[in-house]
Amino acid sequence: MNWMTQNCITQHFRNTPIKLDTVLYAFLFLIFFSCSSSAKNFNPHLITSHLDYSAPIAQYQEQAHPFIATYKRTVRKGDTLSKILKRAGVGRDKNDLKIQIEQLMEADINILALDVIETGQVVRLWIDKQKQLQKLEITLNPARTVEYNRSKSNQFEYKDIHRQGIWRTKAIQGKVKKSFYVSARKARLTPSEVVFIQSLLDTQLNFTKDVSRNEVFSVLRKEQYIDGKPTGNRQLIGVVYQSHSGKQYTAFLHEDGDYYTAQGRSLSKTFLRLPTDAKFRLSSRFNPYRKHPITRRSRPHNGVDLATPAGTPIIAPGDGIVKLISTHKYAGVYIVIEHNGAYSTRYLHLSKPLVTEGQRIIRGETIALSGNTGRTTGPHLHYELHKNGRAINPLKAKVNASTSLSENHMDSFTDLVNYYTSFFPYLKS
Ligand SMILES: [Zn+2]
Repeated sequence: MNWMTQNCITQHFRNTPIKLDTVLYAFLFLIFFSCSSSAKNFNPHLITSHLDYSAPIAQYQEQAHPFIATYKRTVRKGDTLSKILKRAGVGRDKNDLKIQIEQLMEADINILALDVIETGQVVRLWIDKQKQLQKLEITLNPARTVEYNRSKSNQFEYKDIHRQGIWRTKAIQGKVKKSFYVSARKARLTPSEVVFIQSLLDTQLNFTKDVSRNEVFSVLRKEQYIDGKPTGNRQLIGVVYQSHSGKQYTAFLHEDGDYYTAQGRSLSKTFLRLPTDAKFRLSSRFNPYRKHPITRRSRPHNGVDLATPAGTPIIAPGDGIVKLISTHKYAGVYIVIEHNGAYSTRYLHLSKPLVTEGQRIIRGETIALSGNTGRTTGPHLHYELHKNGRAINPLKAKVNASTSLSENHMDSFTDLVNYYTSFFPYLKS
């Protein structure tokens, strides 16, 4: 509590462009709301990444910080972080601005949000009289906001805030015209969803040979909404492909996280544990409480490090789509792959990407050569696995699918399948 009080006070005076009496009132207000136990819900330090708070972010901000952001920008085409900070007046001179950006980027290595800011994202800045950025907040989408707060040690600490919102179910149906891929895209499935459906059903159905014109595909999708707006987070929960002969090829998501046919046979493919063919020494573990090896500051390690010599081929652990290839001051050259609505993987410190953005890739395909780019203590691969936007331990995640559902799961699964198929009106049974 002491630390928080001091921190609040310090921030308060740095941010104050107003008269002394106002300062005193604000000070008392601040002490009361930040530090009294009755107002715990308003304290930003108590917000964890798991917490689902229902107040709109703007309202929450005003309660947590009596001073609203000194600068706000909705990201437009051509914007970069440095352009935004410069325009907002951060930094006494060019060099000071550069130092502050580097401090931000150092905290961003766990998020990778600031090197590729996207149109429509909202950036809020809190800048003090000395032109020092005290806080940056970026709303990546309605479900996720990341804060970078300047700490006492003059570095930034980040806070990753997720909101749960509500999930709605959407049924999509279409007919195959030219190809399944083109028709599914026309039905508003994303490229990674189409690829995922193809990889789910490819043991039953060959999408280049076995599909014919006017056959019907039906897809059921969960979509996340916050304050009535879609967040872009979604997950496929049911797929039925019906051929002219009446045969159905099916995939349904069970509560265990795997996909099964309507008859309960597993469709989830084994996801490779690590993205290399050969085995390498694990040089750093997944550790949310780690201290950084160079700076000794608390820096979560959201992935695992493999001691790969530079130039080691890195392979995709599962089918997917290349979402992003970028360069970050500290993460170096990195790649993000989306595997389906729920999973994505990241590969940092690469020397050379061997794929392009938007490219479809299959499990085992070489995607890059490892390297030593960004800030490292030597050549290695930093590998991350994310589920629904959160890093999970790739060495502990369930990657081996079971072969089929046990009898005692089959009853509830059949009920679920019947419920899901009721969303598809013109499906013959
Ligand atoms: Zn690492």
